[in-house]
Amino acid sequence: MCRHAAWLGPPRSLTTLLGEPEYGLIRQSYAPRMQRHGMINADGFGVGWYDPVSGGPVRYRRTIPIWTDANLPGLAGAARSGCLLAAVRSATVGMPVEESATAPFADGRWLLSHNGRVRGEAVRSLVDSAESTCDAAWVAAAVFARLRDGVPLGDALTEVVTHAGTKDPEARLNLLATDGSAVAATTWGDTLFLDTGDDGVLIASEPLDDRPAWQAVPDRHLVLATGGGVRVQPF
Ligand code: GLN
Repeated sequence: MCRHAAWLGPPRSLTTLLGEPEYGLIRQSYAPRMQRHGMINADGFGVGWYDPVSGGPVRYRRTIPIWTDANLPGLAGAARSGCLLAAVRSATVGMPVEESATAPFADGRWLLSHNGRVRGEAVRSLVDSAESTCDAAWVAAAVFARLRDGVPLGDALTEVVTHAGTKDPEARLNLLATDGSAVAATTWGDTLFLDTGDDGVLIASEPLDDRPAWQAVPDRHLVLATGGGVRVQPF
């Protein structure tokens, strides 16, 4: 189970999710506190943010452990955006370790990360192809296909998670996705926490620090964060 995190609010640098908080994703890559599947997240990482000039997403994905990338601290300090998404990866057994299997997956304005695992048959009927044989790449492709058809972000996640989760009862499908102005997340088999501060919202697999503001999201729920607030609803 990988770890992922997102920020939606006034522009902040990527370090908000990575090295600044005590238990940011850099620490969570080698010492996660709540991870139930896998011990460390050393099979790569990815970050995504929205360029203030073009408005489009920018992505940086690697297959090396996040703590070994000497260029990342400078990049993360300079990359500022009102919408940030990052993930560290613990590859599921049998899945390839390659950039195309590493979150965030992207299509148009959308970025997506998957914490969990799902059998191929449960998602392959939803879409024709994916950039990698990795289960997460297929989940992402299935969501992106619905988004391209005009399905709203929260509904696209719900459709794919409930379909795949029904076909594969063992599936774990915690997704985190954004279009740059809204962030949606699902809980289906793993933890997710929210920090809804005064000026923005942090969403993460596990809390990025020990402030009491973090609240656990119950399993099998959809989180939808927009500029107007945060909604948490059961599937
Ligand atoms: N199954 C996905 C992968 O192999 C996600 C892994 C995870 O959540 N640990 O990348």
